[in-house]
Amino acid sequence: MQTELKEILGGRFNYAALMQGVRILSDCYPFLQFSYLTESVMGKGIPMLRLGEGEKELYYIGTHHGAERITGALLLRFLQEFCELVVRGYPVFGMNLAYILKSRSLFFIPVLNVDGADIAANGAPRGSLLYARLVKMNGSEDFTLWQANARGVDLNHNYDAGFAEYKRLEPSFGITGGGPTRFSGEAPESEPETGALCNYLRFNRPRAVLTLHTQGQEIYCSGGDKCPLRVKTAAQRLAKLTGYKFAVPDGAAAYGGLTDFCMQKLGIPAFTFECGKGKNPLPQSDLPLLYAEIKEALFTFPTMF
Ligand SMILES: [Zn+2]
Repeated sequence: MQTELKEILGGRFNYAALMQGVRILSDCYPFLQFSYLTESVMGKGIPMLRLGEGEKELYYIGTHHGAERITGALLLRFLQEFCELVVRGYPVFGMNLAYILKSRSLFFIPVLNVDGADIAANGAPRGSLLYARLVKMNGSEDFTLWQANARGVDLNHNYDAGFAEYKRLEPSFGITGGGPTRFSGEAPESEPETGALCNYLRFNRPRAVLTLHTQGQEIYCSGGDKCPLRVKTAAQRLAKLTGYKFAVPDGAAAYGGLTDFCMQKLGIPAFTFECGKGKNPLPQSDLPLLYAEIKEALFTFPTMF
């Protein structure tokens, strides 16, 4: 199982690889519950995995952005190690994982933007009705840097947090409609991917939400310096565990994101990890290095809330 999963995570990480990885994990670890968040614009199921039955819920979310699909592989890698340690009964960083899962439920959405990840990995799907539209929005047939979903909406600008302000600013960033990056959509939660996630969060009110992006080796919390002290302290602790810098987002990154939405609209502490360093898309061969950087923070996160 280890070798097979390692190959999948180290190769071209597209939707097929994601689903293969999820199947291997759920076959191998029956206590890992597998369901779907919803369907994407192109009708793909967005896998969601759950560990534990406890009352305190925590969410790990990867791949809002197509070209950052290595974050999905990171979460599968983390899940594999987590499950294996549960089976063996070994502690990790001084923590007993079985005990953590008694009081907590951990939810994982390794790839929220399943269409975007596939478009960035494989290009626009030939023969699909969307092909011509995607090429037009992208301006070329090279989709390596594609971040948005299949309608050209940047999911991490589609949340109800500073949405109207960002909408006014979009033209100054050269954004006039759907495209590879930074278009916020017609309305907050207009996309099936964000709409379904927000409904889950509103209904389940988790204790905290952690979202993975690449790159920059930075950690954000909502509102930066304006966020409540306990949230800022948690962000600083996570920064310390990773060696990343605690930072405040600026420019376009400061609007419409999930981390801001969680804190501003739901009062849920939320954190963004900008994993690794380099130029997106980071090569899949960076996976072991990125995992080593964030591993302790991923394991510690549920115990902090
Ligand atoms: Zn991102």
